[in-house]
Amino acid sequence: MNSTTSNLTETLVQTQKDHKGSGSEFKLDKLLRQHVIFSITDINGRITDVSDAFCSHTGYTHQELIGNRHNILRSESTKSSLYSSMWSTINDNKTWFGEVLNLKKDTTPFWINCTITPLFDKNDCKTGYLAIYSNITREKEIEEASYIDELTQVYNRKKFNSSLDTFFENRGSDTEATALVMIDIDHFKTINDLYGHVVGDEMLITLSSFISTQTRKSDLFCRWGGEEFVLFLSEITYNEVLNLCEKLRTNIASMPCETLKKCVGVDKYITCSFGVTMVHKDDTAISLTARADKALYLAKENGRNRVGFL
Ligand code: GH3
Ligand code: MG
Ligand code: MG
Repeated sequence: MNSTTSNLTETLVQTQKDHKGSGSEFKLDKLLRQHVIFSITDINGRITDVSDAFCSHTGYTHQELIGNRHNILRSESTKSSLYSSMWSTINDNKTWFGEVLNLKKDTTPFWINCTITPLFDKNDCKTGYLAIYSNITREKEIEEASYIDELTQVYNRKKFNSSLDTFFENRGSDTEATALVMIDIDHFKTINDLYGHVVGDEMLITLSSFISTQTRKSDLFCRWGGEEFVLFLSEITYNEVLNLCEKLRTNIASMPCETLKKCVGVDKYITCSFGVTMVHKDDTAISLTARADKALYLAKENGRNRVGFL
C-alpha cells in the first residue's frame, strides 16, 4: 500500500513537471483533482490546495479547507504521538507514511493511508508538503471485526498482541507509566461442572461487560482466552493500577454473582485473581506478558481472590 502511494506521489509530481506548458497539462490536472485525494500545505501545515476528490470525500468545500490545518479532520482517538512522529519525519525532509483515522464534516469516521512528501522550489527551498491519501475504511472495518471476541464482544487476543507490538515498536520515554494486568476467574471449571457451559458463557459475558464499564476510554481490555482477561493501561501509576484492581476485585467478590442468580436462582459469590506489572525499560512483549502471568500465578498461589504484583 505504502509503496503504491509513494509511487503515486512521485508520479504525480513528475507528471506535473513533464506536462508543464504542454497541451495536456490542464486535462491531466483536472483528472488528478477529480480522482486523487490530495492536499498541499505550506511549511506551517496550512492547507493551500485540495483536490475535488478530497472535498467530496470529506464533505468540506475548498473554501472551508483552504487556510485551515488538517486538524479540522482530526479524530480524538488519534494519539498525539502519531502527529509528532509525522512532523519529525517531514521536518527532516523525509516522506512520512501512515494510517490515520479522521472525521468527515458530518463527523463520520474514515481511515486513510497517507503519504506526505516535502515539496521544493527550483532553488531547493522547501515550499510545503504534498499529502496523498487512499481510503482504507473498508479494510480497517474488516480488521476491526477480526479483533472482537465472538462470545463476549470485547477485544480478543489478536487485538492485544497487535496493540502490544505497536506499543513496543513506537515506545517513547513514558513507557514506565504503563501497566499490564491479567485477570483470571477463580475455580471457573467448578462453575461449568456445577451449572453447565451455557451458564459459564453467560458469566463470561456479564463479567466482561462489567470490567469494560470500569475502565477508561484509553485502556485496552481484551479476553485473553478461556476465563482469562488482560488490561493494558497507559498513563497510569503503580498506585493507580493497584487501586483499580483492588476496586474491581472487591466489586466482583462482594456481590452474589448476577448470572447465577438470574440463570439458576443460586446466591453464590465468585472471585477473580489479578496479576499486575508495570512496563520496564528493557521489556519486550514477551517479558512483560510473562511477568504479568507470573504475578497472577502468585495471586493464585497465595489463596486466589487477590492482586499479585511483580
Ligand atoms: P483457577 O482458580 O486455578 O483459575 O481454576 P479454574 O477452574 O478457573 O481454572 P482451570 O484452568 O482449571 O479451568 C478453566 C475453565 O474455564 C475450564 C474450561 O472449561 C473453562 N472455559 C474456558 N473457556 C470457556 C468458555 O468459553 N466458556 C465456558 N463456559 N467455559 C470456558
Ligand atoms: Mg485460567
Ligand atoms: Mg481460572
